[in-house]
Amino acid sequence: MSENKDPHVPQGVKFVYDFTEGNKDLKDLLGGKGANLAEMTNLGLPVPPGFTITTEACKVYLDSGEEPEALRDEVSAHLDALEQKMGKKLGQADNPLLVSVRSGAKFSMPGMMDTVLNIGLSDKSVSGLAAQAGDERFAWDSYRRLIQMFGKTVLGVDGDLFEEELEKAKKAKKVTVDTELDAADLKKLVTKFKKIVKTEAGRDFPQDPREQMDLAIKAVFDSWNGDRAKLYRRQERIPHDLGTAVNVCSMVFGNLGPDSGTGVAFTRDPASGHQGVYGDYLQNAQGEDVVAGIRNTVPLAELEQIDKKSYDQLMQIMETLENHYKDLCDIEFTIERGQLWMLQTRVGKRTAAAAFRIATQLVDQGLIDEAEALQRVNGQQLAQLMFPRFDEAAKVEKIGRGIAASPGAAVGKAVFDSYTAVKWSRSGEKVILIRRETNPDDLDGMIAAEGILTSRGGKTSHAAVVARGMGKTCVCGAEELEVDTKRRRMTTADGTVIEEGDVVSIDGSTGKVYLGEVPVVPSPVVEYFEGRMHAGADDADELVAAVHRIMAYADRVRRLRVRANADNAEDALRARRFGAQGIGLCRTEHMFLGERREYVERLILADTDEEREDSLKALLPLQRQDFVELFEAMDGLPVTVRLLDPPLHEFLPDITELSVRVALAESRKDANENDLRLLQAVHRLHEQNPMLGLRGVRLGLVIPGLFTMQVRAIAEAAAERKNAKGDPRAEIMIPLVGTVQELEIVRDEAEQVIAEVQAATGVELKLALGTMIELPRAALTAGQIAEAAEFFSFGTNDLTQTVWGFSRDDVEASFFTAYLEKGIFGVSPFETIDKDGVGSLVRNAAQAGRATRPDLKLGVCGEHGGDPESVHFFHEVGLDYVSCSPFRIPVARLEAGRAASSAKGSDNR
Ligand code: PEP
Ligand code: MG
Repeated sequence: MSENKDPHVPQGVKFVYDFTEGNKDLKDLLGGKGANLAEMTNLGLPVPPGFTITTEACKVYLDSGEEPEALRDEVSAHLDALEQKMGKKLGQADNPLLVSVRSGAKFSMPGMMDTVLNIGLSDKSVSGLAAQAGDERFAWDSYRRLIQMFGKTVLGVDGDLFEEELEKAKKAKKVTVDTELDAADLKKLVTKFKKIVKTEAGRDFPQDPREQMDLAIKAVFDSWNGDRAKLYRRQERIPHDLGTAVNVCSMVFGNLGPDSGTGVAFTRDPASGHQGVYGDYLQNAQGEDVVAGIRNTVPLAELEQIDKKSYDQLMQIMETLENHYKDLCDIEFTIERGQLWMLQTRVGKRTAAAAFRIATQLVDQGLIDEAEALQRVNGQQLAQLMFPRFDEAAKVEKIGRGIAASPGAAVGKAVFDSYTAVKWSRSGEKVILIRRETNPDDLDGMIAAEGILTSRGGKTSHAAVVARGMGKTCVCGAEELEVDTKRRRMTTADGTVIEEGDVVSIDGSTGKVYLGEVPVVPSPVVEYFEGRMHAGADDADELVAAVHRIMAYADRVRRLRVRANADNAEDALRARRFGAQGIGLCRTEHMFLGERREYVERLILADTDEEREDSLKALLPLQRQDFVELFEAMDGLPVTVRLLDPPLHEFLPDITELSVRVALAESRKDANENDLRLLQAVHRLHEQNPMLGLRGVRLGLVIPGLFTMQVRAIAEAAAERKNAKGDPRAEIMIPLVGTVQELEIVRDEAEQVIAEVQAATGVELKLALGTMIELPRAALTAGQIAEAAEFFSFGTNDLTQTVWGFSRDDVEASFFTAYLEKGIFGVSPFETIDKDGVGSLVRNAAQAGRATRPDLKLGVCGEHGGDPESVHFFHEVGLDYVSCSPFRIPVARLEAGRAASSAKGSDNR
């Protein structure tokens, strides 16, 4: 290693690793592809020799704008060694060594970054390659591919210019596929391609092979910050500072004739998880041809007829890889004149259903234990499985069928380009993006669409891989549908024309495509959680059985309890079926809507104690009955009832409407006394910032009798349930407390009311009194507040709003998109807890609260309680429970189990 004087680089850092030096655990340094190439090399599998430039080198380049000084010498040393091993030199005129330069980040980003093949070819070495391969056509084909790829990805030339020339050449020769062009045609094409480079890039295509390689390496580094790559990372929540590694690998050729070819394969079906032979193969082809859909691939099983020896060897290697990685692997391979080469493997992406099935299949095979199985799935996948699917009994008009590439049931208006998909979805339309095939430029449209439909390409096409990664419904390769993107229409086999804007429905689980809107039915996983399907029953499907097993394990190991946010018996009962261990938040304001709103209106407008008393008296029995029903539904489990929270004006008429009514009445000289009084009150109570105004405990303190009425209703309901031999476990929660004094006053009043109810009913009541922590001041003084609170429930919705100073009702629509685009945060802090800011207040408040009161019960009831990443955080900071909407309870249970499980995490993105 040369002495390293670069100020950006610590001494002694190694930037280049031979494939024999790395292993699969070095993904941070070597990227996924490099680490796995090294692992396969170590396993003795046939991997073409090569080396990997580390992500560290890329990071130095991205930080400083220059490659680290030591890199050039290290690359030279590794290239020398490679040349010696191969017995030929890079670009050597009579017998050239050719290499591929491929990107490879820690997490797979399909098609997002750059690859250049055939580096080392030049005007001189092209003849050497022809002689060496005994095939003139092959050599010129390889050379034109190099200029094309290099021109596009390294020199930034518009790729269509090359494609157009290629099309012209095919037309001139009256052929349809590139393999029908001969050496002379390709030679002419090379001259044309070089001219395009000269005109467009303002420089000659470099003839020096080392210059080709160095420029390609730099281009791969640069591609990390390409627009497509940045967007993909944001979507997939991949950090922007990881950088990419670069793999330099000696070339093997799949385009040397019919005994050569290239393919992709999975060790199991990435949609169902079943073992078998899944993949695509393309004879006489190179690299991207398979996924680009240029010619039609054949199913991998046909390779057995084409080349039995390679097929058998491939099957054996796939088994070795599965047993070694103990997981589904996907692979890329090339056959060069009957010799099989492995070009890539990785733990493969899969659908949510396959993730659950594979995890339990691998447990049954004895390859992994249950703890590991739990790490192989995640809450996001479980949430996906809970989506509804199409009603099979519905009357439908099927118009085609393709490959079930990514499950789900999607309905939307047909659009034929990414731009329209984005535009229409922004105006609230649901759209299905329909393309012949997708490429990375379609990414925006794919994100905006409900689902993606393509007429070409297989399970490994761009559309399929990316949609699966996003969890988006996708049907691909629906060949009987003719897609005409220029005229924005699609024609079915029987001639029906679907125009832009027509509604279509696509089923990513069966591959079926329908015209019109097909009704949807609940998923079997939801049926299982609802208790309408039993995992042990004969007809329970494999997926439900897998979900059941993994959920049972998660429940066994998790420490966090999971409660529901629910305000009525129906939601409470569903939550219970879904596994809720209580209610963490009953928002009582939801009980004052509809007809009851009027009582509240009267309460607010009351001029005299008597009027106020009347309203409270009317409300009391209604509230009591609400609680009786809720406590009955949750019998034996805790129910945290929060006293009234939202700003009062929400219970009053709309100020503009009322003003207009009054004005109109006055103009008719027909003013209504009541309306006038109401308008005055509405004006009096109008606030500029209602979220920071008269709400929560403040309301309880200024409207006499309001909170005590609610406490009385809770206490009387609990007494009634006890008399009925029930087991009510009510907890009373005070919202928006900022200081312990507020809590003390409410607490004293509440205790008095509870004592009165006990005396009146003769029933002993134990009602815990606690508070929400949803203001920074409350979090900062948690030690004092805990003196008056038996529990804390973190209201992370308001806490996020107040810590960031973000209006929770406005910011997501107004400027969050810009913030996300600028990378200020990767995900909205209202969705996933901001660990550094809001999270740190939660952590400190939890500690301070427990320091005052060691048995203080701690929970969270903001939206974050059902968010997978946030659940891990709440586990880590030691909360007792999370509370979330009923539908998210299974997700929270699963993630709480994953957080607690001590199994080593796997990079299973
Ligand atoms: C919160 O603020 O996190 C919370 C749960 O209360 P709400 O959303 O009702 O304000
Ligand atoms: Mg709140």
